[in-house]
Amino acid sequence: MRDALKTKDHKRFLGTIEFFPEEGKYHYDGHRACSRCMSPEETRSLSGLCPACGKKVTVGVMHRVALLSDREAGCKPQQAFPFLSSIPMSEVLGEVYGVGVKSKKVAQHYQKLLETFGNEFFILRDCSLSQLKEAGYSLLAEALKRIRAGKVHISPGYDGAYGVIKVFEPWERRENQLALF
Ligand SMILES: [Zn+2]
Repeated sequence: MRDALKTKDHKRFLGTIEFFPEEGKYHYDGHRACSRCMSPEETRSLSGLCPACGKKVTVGVMHRVALLSDREAGCKPQQAFPFLSSIPMSEVLGEVYGVGVKSKKVAQHYQKLLETFGNEFFILRDCSLSQLKEAGYSLLAEALKRIRAGKVHISPGYDGAYGVIKVFEPWERRENQLALF
């Protein structure tokens, strides 16, 4: 694997699946007690001070990344390996059914999906969405479509608070839009 990475061998190293870095507790800057979450740019424009209490904010990982970077955000080197930022499938199922991640319902469907389609990474990244729909998982298929396209709602973590990644918007659930899938 090291060799494949070193020589940028795209045939032997296909890419990675990882969680969203924004879920980390110190991704952005800010003050949890003041409910102020700031991007590195915002922090810079405010000279590193919290707009609520006026004290220095807790600086997160992205701030350092922005300082060290020699490229614009979103820039992708030509030889870079592909990656998929994903959400653990149990969290996706929790959202799909509107229940807790540790609930019985999530555990049951998780197990059933693995038995029917294969391992979690395959389902998240490659599984055919139409096959999932046929098996009665049309809302899950819609969720995976959005995750694969990177179309999720991200609230980055900051100052010790975990980030939150959501596939569906609160209004979609409220207005019963999810029943359409
Ligand atoms: Zn503050």
